[in-house]
Amino acid sequence: MAKNESNLGPEEDVDLAIIGGGTPFGTSGSSSRLIHAKSGPLEVGRADALNARTQQYLEVVGILNKLLPLGIKCNNGNFKSRQSQWWTSLEHCTHPNFLMIGQSVVEKVLKDELDFPVYYQEKVVSISETKNGVIIHTDRGRRINSRYAIAADGARSTVRRALNISFTGTKPEMVWAVLDTFIDTDFPLCSEIITFQLRGQSRVSWIPRERGMARFYVLLDGEITQTRAQDSIREHMAPHRIDFVKTEWFSTFDVKERIASTFVSNQGTGRVILAGDAAHVHSVNGGQGLNTGIADAFSLSWRLAAVVKNAHLAPGAAVKLIRSYDTERRTVAQEVIDVAATLVRDTAHTAKQYVSTIQKNAGYITGMGVSYDGIGSELIQDSEQSIWKAGKRCPDIQLVCDGTDKTIRLYSIASYGKYLVLFVGGSEVVQAFRDICTYLILRAGILVQTPVNGHNTGSQDEARTFSSDVVATNDNFTVVVRPDMYIGYVGNGDGWKQYLGQLYTT
Ligand SMILES: Cc1cc2nc3c(=O)[nH]c(=O)nc-3n(C[C@H](O)[C@H](O)[C@H](O)COP(=O)(O)OP(=O)(O)OC[C@H]3O[C@@H](n4cnc5c(N)ncnc54)[C@H](O)[C@@H]3O)c2cc1C
Repeated sequence: MAKNESNLGPEEDVDLAIIGGGTPFGTSGSSSRLIHAKSGPLEVGRADALNARTQQYLEVVGILNKLLPLGIKCNNGNFKSRQSQWWTSLEHCTHPNFLMIGQSVVEKVLKDELDFPVYYQEKVVSISETKNGVIIHTDRGRRINSRYAIAADGARSTVRRALNISFTGTKPEMVWAVLDTFIDTDFPLCSEIITFQLRGQSRVSWIPRERGMARFYVLLDGEITQTRAQDSIREHMAPHRIDFVKTEWFSTFDVKERIASTFVSNQGTGRVILAGDAAHVHSVNGGQGLNTGIADAFSLSWRLAAVVKNAHLAPGAAVKLIRSYDTERRTVAQEVIDVAATLVRDTAHTAKQYVSTIQKNAGYITGMGVSYDGIGSELIQDSEQSIWKAGKRCPDIQLVCDGTDKTIRLYSIASYGKYLVLFVGGSEVVQAFRDICTYLILRAGILVQTPVNGHNTGSQDEARTFSSDVVATNDNFTVVVRPDMYIGYVGNGDGWKQYLGQLYTT
């Protein structure tokens, strides 16, 4: 990519430039620009499911309620056929199911939430990094001077190439046919994913979708056409009848398993950050592509917001925040690739083997087992195993409001961009980090009304008191939950202040 020095168009100074991005990025309140080569959100096809963890993320950013009515719940724990227990065994999770919903629907809803300009039909043609920022030129002659840039420009990322970041891995020579179609069949309908076995292999999967649609994945050898895919589905579903009434989308998916050598330029210390397919690609099995991209976005946006907006950042905190994104998300991406690689190869085996591989890797497929402990992240201070463990997802526990019998869920109190500080069994006097934290006091059992520092259920800046059955009577420790709803710290005394003090000065 040649650097465009002509700069004939407008010039803009912003905090953040996002390049591409079918998945959601942004730092509310800062100045951002999205430059997108396409004319708008996706119209049809591609990803088809939001997993349990993604639904939690989208609840915290206040979008889930808009998506729930547009999709259907799948694998909701009420299995009609021989199946695994991987959804029903999920604890502290409000949505133990996939939300089946097309990527096009998700992209449209997310686009409506963006509160900064989007330049559609505009391509980034050059990017260069200086000590203090990033300079971007587009094919419309626009120059954007940005403090940071997110490269979410897909698997063929021009930004990744421009930065000479390698993208290596394997290609198992497997191509899937993918159909979004309306069918007429005498096969019993159910809202579950069905894998069909034929001649000892599991080459067809049927996935229920919104609007009564069906998604089929078909693994074919040789030439891949819609007719051959439909013939294969008929053969797998025989003796049942299936008619394809209207096919909305037919495509192919050529499996590649690749990961970028770093997700942050300049070996983790730079200002250009890769996310989504620009950083990692893998087979569609397990439906982890869009989900992992959304998880990248959720992991990155609060960090970037802290870096560009927070006047009280401690020295060195910006690098810690961004570098830990690389540590955490690159480790997870490699694991996601490995899970998808095992799954796609298991389609050449029996359905029983395929389903048992799903069972073993359910933590990734549901997203609920993804964790950042023990991988050297600067933002995780390792702690003992318990329901509260640094590096693990924060459990979505039920809380009883102080002095009432009203219950709420922890995630419904969380607000993206803020840390949750939980004084479990304690009654800490809150004096620090007020702008970036929501404070809760959690006690055992059902509480009678107990004022805390003169307040009981006060504003977001004050500690609010709840009771919960996960709290034991002799508990007395503090938990810091990061804005991405991962636990960063668990400990006693002033340790939580030291944890936050490595990043913020007040
Ligand atoms: C056939 C198919 C089926 C799939 N099925 C599933 C599934 O069932 N489940 C699942 O989870 N995932 C699935 N995926 C994967 C999923 O669609 C991707 O993981 C997801 O779209 C990644 O989002 P992204 O924003 O990182 O990249 P993309 O969605 O690829 O978006 C990148 C965007 O960047 C734009 N762009 C590129 N270069 C530039 C530039 N220089 N300047 C400006 N803009 C640029 C592109 O136009 C593109 O719109 C499927 C993908 C395909 C192709």
